[in-house]
Amino acid sequence: VPEPDHEVRVSSQLPEPIPFHRPAIGEAEIEAAVEVLRSGWLTTGAKAHALEAAFADRLGVQHALAVNSGTAALHLALDGFGIGSGDEVAIPTYTFTACGEVCAYVGARPALTDVGEDYLLGPAQLEPVLTAATRAVMPVHFAGLEVDTIPLRELAPDARFIEDAAHALPSTTDRAGAGRLGDAAAFSFYATKTITTGGEGGMLTTNDDALAARAALMRLHGISADAWNRYGAGGHWAYEVAEAGFKYNLTDVSAAIGLVQFARLDDLAAQRIAIAARYDERFGDSALLRVPPRHPGAPHAWHLYVIQLELDALTLDRAQVIERLGVAGIGTSVHFIPLHLHPHYQRRYGYKPGDFPAAERLFERSISLPIWPGMTDAQVDRVAATLLEVVEAARHPVQV
Ligand SMILES: *Cc1c(COP(=O)(O)O)cnc(C)c1O
Repeated sequence: VPEPDHEVRVSSQLPEPIPFHRPAIGEAEIEAAVEVLRSGWLTTGAKAHALEAAFADRLGVQHALAVNSGTAALHLALDGFGIGSGDEVAIPTYTFTACGEVCAYVGARPALTDVGEDYLLGPAQLEPVLTAATRAVMPVHFAGLEVDTIPLRELAPDARFIEDAAHALPSTTDRAGAGRLGDAAAFSFYATKTITTGGEGGMLTTNDDALAARAALMRLHGISADAWNRYGAGGHWAYEVAEAGFKYNLTDVSAAIGLVQFARLDDLAAQRIAIAARYDERFGDSALLRVPPRHPGAPHAWHLYVIQLELDALTLDRAQVIERLGVAGIGTSVHFIPLHLHPHYQRRYGYKPGDFPAAERLFERSISLPIWPGMTDAQVDRVAATLLEVVEAARHPVQV
């Protein structure tokens, strides 16, 4: 029989665990959701439209379409640009599977690329995969560091640029405007992203009127709004199915949460930037760690803070370091397992380990540390001190 106070005693000796992520949901978000729940209108309506208007206004884009995931936004962009069977879409292997799966949805082939030391798709990685069939390029603003798409566009002037901006808000907005944000950009409001609509949500932005019209149709069952006009006054029951569409609309419950989060964007971003700067300072002169890349002048949303282990100097591998951090109550994650290392991409497209050495090298060394608004300086310092302790204890003995 366990002693009743044993567990309490043990756990009270350990410092409180620091989770990898904690959503920044406050009373205002909760009240906004409750207000919609009480209102009698739950699904897409005034709140979703208000979120779209706020988004388009701040980013300086013509169209912002609220959807229920970032993946849906990527899919609608490929569909809307008519990308399909026989077409290729260049995608960095260092990303989430959403980028590849949407190509499969439309019957296109994801043409994987390696990435640079900054985890991003650059011209040197794009150039070798371009073929006559390349119809689109999907740069990923990994961790929130903005990809410079200008040299990519010069290499592939006829391709559509669909930016995976799932990590980018609000950094991309700083350089938004004419010609920015690609031909389309997909944002994610998933639970861990820089803002959330309560767990799941996304936004497609574009300055392309034809894409916006098609995506608006396809995100809700391919039901055409024109039927309202055709059936005339009193025909409020009438609708017309123009295409086999998708069920990708965002609910007003979600959008109401998103509106509060969107209003807090600058404050949330400032907190992430401050945490990243504090980590940089703590890790700065360690020979056993490498802090995340930055580019002078390029915005960074700091969705992720990805530290690299200098494996050659350590007796532990990445999994062992993660395990030791876990024992010390520090939650971490790994972004990302490169797509070409997954069975699906190997079986279906013939990729294999060794295909993208730079991505594999980054992957083996990378650990995503906690970075979320509300983290205290003491928590940031504890994460840093614990990691420094773990790697110092694992320093290779000096070779003679
Ligand atoms: C989160 C994420 C997505 C997908 O967003 P969902 O809203 O979860 O569908 C796409 N790409 C990247 C790089 C992501 O991190």
